[in-house]
Amino acid sequence: MRHQQVADNVFTVRGTDVNMVLLRDGRDLTLIDAGWYGDAGVLEQSIRELGHRPEDIVAILLTHAHLDHVGALNHLHRHYGTPVYTSETEVAHARGEVHESATPLDVIVRLADPAILAWAARITAAGGLSKNPVPHIQPFPADGPLDLPGNPVPVHCAGHTSGHSAFHLPEHGVIATGDALVTAHPASKTTGPQLLPKFFHHSTEDTLAALRALEGVDAPLVLPGHGRPFRRGIAEAVARARDHAAGLLR
Ligand SMILES: [Zn+2]
Repeated sequence: MRHQQVADNVFTVRGTDVNMVLLRDGRDLTLIDAGWYGDAGVLEQSIRELGHRPEDIVAILLTHAHLDHVGALNHLHRHYGTPVYTSETEVAHARGEVHESATPLDVIVRLADPAILAWAARITAAGGLSKNPVPHIQPFPADGPLDLPGNPVPVHCAGHTSGHSAFHLPEHGVIATGDALVTAHPASKTTGPQLLPKFFHHSTEDTLAALRALEGVDAPLVLPGHGRPFRRGIAEAVARARDHAAGLLR
């Protein structure tokens, strides 16, 4: 099974080395991020195993427009008309008008590392080499809390990309951090709260600075874009991510 309940009405779905989050309110769902292109089947299956249908997703929220988070958006939009929202700044990135991602060369020069080689093979099989622009994406329909299942509140934390958002779920004590803070990645040698390796960030300096936006949020449960949930709260996660980053700079 690729899905897991992590809090009341909050579920994670494991794609190809990347996480998606489902928020439930009665029959309705919100999806946060959509894995790789090839993860659409896993996502649909997980939704059905939860007793839902893909058309129960009333909206998809995108933390940022990298291929490992955009994956199934177009599939869901095409088949079910699901609207997709991200921050105003991230819209151009998602539409393919600007580019802020690691290049195939960034990965190729690291293929001597067996963990990265194996990961590269998995993501290639999951559609990692295809462009996947989202021309229909729209900016968040409101400032502040969104009137969607789970009542998610976007938290601006630019750096990994220029318009990256996390999503705070105040009623659930949860924050979905996307790639602003992760707990593991095949390209990292350690597990636990950390920033992704430098070559993934549009600006590592800004990613580090953006942790300030996360640490004050009231969220005992952290759901990262990559790696396992962290249950000791976002403040401790941020402190550990800073320590990890300082270790890399030493
Ligand atoms: Zn990612």
